[in-house]
Amino acid sequence: MPPPSVVKSQSQLPDSAAGKTILKASCLCGTANHEVTLSKNDLPLKGYMCHCTSCRRMTGAQCLTVVFCPEYYQPAQSVLDKMTPYVFTKRIIQYFCSTCGCQMLARCLENGDDPNSTVTWDVATGTLERIEDIVDWQGHEHLQDTLDGGFADFLTEINGKKLERWPAHYGKHEQVPPGWSSTSRSNSKANPEDKLHCTCRCRGVEFYLSRPSARSALAEKYWPKEPPVDISNEQLSPENEILYMRDNNTKFLAGLCSCNSCRLAAGIEIVTWAFLPTFQITQDKEGKIPWSGDFGTLKRYESSPGCHRYFCSRCGAFVFYDAEDRQFLKDVAFGLIDAPEGSRAESWFGWRTSRLGYRDDDIPRAESFVLAIEKGLREWEASRPGPDLSGGSGSGGAL
Ligand SMILES: [Zn+2]
Ligand SMILES: [Zn+2]
Ligand SMILES: [Zn+2]
Repeated sequence: MPPPSVVKSQSQLPDSAAGKTILKASCLCGTANHEVTLSKNDLPLKGYMCHCTSCRRMTGAQCLTVVFCPEYYQPAQSVLDKMTPYVFTKRIIQYFCSTCGCQMLARCLENGDDPNSTVTWDVATGTLERIEDIVDWQGHEHLQDTLDGGFADFLTEINGKKLERWPAHYGKHEQVPPGWSSTSRSNSKANPEDKLHCTCRCRGVEFYLSRPSARSALAEKYWPKEPPVDISNEQLSPENEILYMRDNNTKFLAGLCSCNSCRLAAGIEIVTWAFLPTFQITQDKEGKIPWSGDFGTLKRYESSPGCHRYFCSRCGAFVFYDAEDRQFLKDVAFGLIDAPEGSRAESWFGWRTSRLGYRDDDIPRAESFVLAIEKGLREWEASRPGPDLSGGSGSGGAL
């Protein structure tokens, strides 16, 4: 998270109603809904995207998206009582909806060693009813943690304004260009025995993903039989690519979603999903303890009949989505993935760059942001090495 030093000195909130703006903030279930009353003089609010490992693990998203509120904004205790606090650092306490897990607010102490120092609050932008003309996006920070630039390479400018790209804290060291990657990025070749470790910030939820295999594309056919099943006689035709797979069924699909439900369940502008056959998600590294909707600190929220969202009840991380009509498949929150090759885990996942899921949901509230991501995804795809090296056009897909 950016330090509070980036917050400009604040004016007092004027008493006249004419000078005020009320921002409505919501979670998916509505329990934690609240309002942020600001002086019109303080708009637009500066928006920041933090890519640090802790923020990715705590949100389940590829980055945290926040605005800092002026010092006079202090939420009422009755608002905070609807939320669960999580001590993020000695300086920052994060608050998420106790019922649906949506990240809502963070309390930031100017000096973590001095409990009497100034307290400011930031709001997770995905909770805001509208961000167009309300949030002025500044840029990305802590890109070093992603090893590969992560989501920042999908969003390089908004309305022609280049977003800043800082490797660590905002404003520190030299900025890094789009396409940057860390020298400490591991260049490991795809190994079928690999397991990808996933964890939330507090480590109350940890699990493992296994590499795509010939069996991955047959997951639906064999559900609910547990593997191993004998598929030695099955032939996959390369032209018949499976919906949740990419690159001739050698990689899983990864895609960005801007639907209202995902946004309000996470509190983050854009949720990124990895789509995996359920049998390829296990609680242990050996792959023996199968996926379950109830392990560790996982909590389930039924977002619509037959559809469930799972989050960590201790740190609020968004973890899984599943639907009863496709139990063979799970959506895994991408921010939990711990890939030594970089946060996009490109040897495992083929990225859908042709479109942003449910973009029409988000257009009225965040048009500039949505259009910028669509443009960014296209440009990122075009900038990549040819298919012989990287594989995949990333086209199509309906998930
Ligand atoms: Zn952070
Ligand atoms: Zn809620
Ligand atoms: Zn957790």
